Amino acid sequence: MSLPDRNNPYSFSPYLEWRKNVDYYEEDLFFQKLLRLYTGKEAEQLDREARTFSKKVSFRWRDFSERISVPENRPYLMHYDGHKNRIDRIVRPYEIAVMEKEVFGEAWFADNTSDWTRFMKLYILSQNSEAGVCCPLICTWGMAALLEKYANTQETKAILDHLKNGVDGVYPIGAQFVSEIQGGSDVPANLLEAVEENGVWRLYGTKFFCSAAHADYSVITAKPKGSETVALFVIPMWLPGNKEKEVRNGYTIDRIKRKLGTVELPTAEITYNGTVAYPVGPLNRGVANVVGIVLTYSRLAIAIASAGAMTRGLREIRKYGEFRTAFGLKLQDFPMLIAQFLKNESYVRRTIAGNFKVYKDFISLPSGLSVGLESGALFISDKSDEPLEMRKKRLDVRQLVLLEKITVAKDSNDMSRLGISALGGHGVMEDFSSLPRMLRDGLVNELWEGPRNVLLTQLFVDFQRARKWYPPEEFVKNILKGADATLIREYTEELEEIMEIPHFFEMNEKTIKACSQWDDYCDRLFHAYQDIALAEADSAS
Ligand SMILES: Cc1cc2nc3c(=O)[nH]c(=O)nc-3n(C[C@H](O)[C@H](O)[C@H](O)COP(=O)(O)OP(=O)(O)OC[C@H]3O[C@@H](n4cnc5c(N)ncnc54)[C@H](O)[C@@H]3O)c2cc1C
Repeated sequence: MSLPDRNNPYSFSPYLEWRKNVDYYEEDLFFQKLLRLYTGKEAEQLDREARTFSKKVSFRWRDFSERISVPENRPYLMHYDGHKNRIDRIVRPYEIAVMEKEVFGEAWFADNTSDWTRFMKLYILSQNSEAGVCCPLICTWGMAALLEKYANTQETKAILDHLKNGVDGVYPIGAQFVSEIQGGSDVPANLLEAVEENGVWRLYGTKFFCSAAHADYSVITAKPKGSETVALFVIPMWLPGNKEKEVRNGYTIDRIKRKLGTVELPTAEITYNGTVAYPVGPLNRGVANVVGIVLTYSRLAIAIASAGAMTRGLREIRKYGEFRTAFGLKLQDFPMLIAQFLKNESYVRRTIAGNFKVYKDFISLPSGLSVGLESGALFISDKSDEPLEMRKKRLDVRQLVLLEKITVAKDSNDMSRLGISALGGHGVMEDFSSLPRMLRDGLVNELWEGPRNVLLTQLFVDFQRARKWYPPEEFVKNILKGADATLIREYTEELEEIMEIPHFFEMNEKTIKACSQWDDYCDRLFHAYQDIALAEADSAS
């Protein structure tokens, strides 16, 4: 009960004081434990690096991220300078330029930066949400992996060297431009034209979703003139010496999109009119390479970044539960709230554990996923002369990356929503917590690098194609190793039942029902995988 008080003394200060002082990594005992568990001899070094890195992310970059996220600070386009020169300058707040330089200055792609360092740093960094830096970082990762495999000309080798080593401590930013107005999922339908003119490839046409449009380089898909097959190129956004003069490499930025999420990041529509481009890999393997290398890294990275966002959300609502009262009780004294906190916690822990397990398998695979391109579909080649066991392992990892991407991207949004609900009306206030931003950015994660429906279909196609040499029963047994026999049998039987449908392209009641069941099955299957990873983590000392 309370009497009126015209000087209402209520204050959020104790909660805010705690929040201001949280060091993301120091507080995260579960992540620390898994880092030790999974990284062997590297663990001590990683722990040291994480402690230094976390101090930057948790305080300086957190404050920058908050400042740049307000509507007044969104990037905008200045088409012309004061002397009628077309410049298409992307104007962004000063804080983001400083933060971007510092974040990229961590030399993410240098030879002596390990796979686990990238994993650990991205997880910590993404606790500030996308913030205009995570997307370009992820794109640069895919570009570096692509060039590591294919750079074989003076230009592409120089770009790779630049990505890895920077110049005077400044590292370049990468992007990836694939989607066109007629479709993002259907990459083979790309229309951007590549023409070889006097020994130089040039691009003509348009791209409709170009995030990190302020980048220094971009991976880009285009069809060579007269060909129906998509090829892959890298473009410098400015030719050498032109960045300072603001003379772009033969393209105009037509517009910056207005978006729901990742608003700090400029996503542009671009017209190419003679852009100089460098081919990467065989011209007839553009789709295989963009999906098999570039998008695979992005999909893994989206899961890592989503886990970071989920962790921060959980930490902040649990503390709010200790601080906030209603009807004379702390929120954490309501069983209803505790049930939600526990659900949220179980999702965060299973996500982190599953991420470590998938990533370890991925980085242990010799020469990556090694996809082939047959009949327009991407697939682990069954004509490969690799031992059968290795082919199976590749398929396990490939399917796990797809399952992880769709499941984690969706779960993180469900958990943001739960977190928002725990904060009550304050939950939707953009200036009260980072949860609304996490949710908006999370919605983008569900779409880019393969929207859910596309990946669900791809998973199904892959299982059907592999079943001759990799029966569903064996796949389920392999990925759920350690689960009880009944669970494995149930998942196997259900997979076999759904696979009675040969494909998902015939419009009838049976197929529609199977699609709906598949959507649900894939989440459950990956959750079962995550729960095994979690049990392994919990049972380790
Ligand atoms: C904020 C943001 C930033 C982006 N940045 C970039 C970028 O930098 N570079 C870039 O290249 N792209 C970018 N994209 C584009 C993104 O990758 C595409 O939106 C995505 O690939 C889907 O393409 P689409 O939007 O044309 O949808 P469509 O391909 O038209 O798909 C529409 C629906 O149909 C479903 N669908 C399509 N094909 C199939 C199928 N075979 N089976 C079942 N279902 C199917 C899809 O899942 C979806 O539900 C960005 C998107 C967003 C939202």
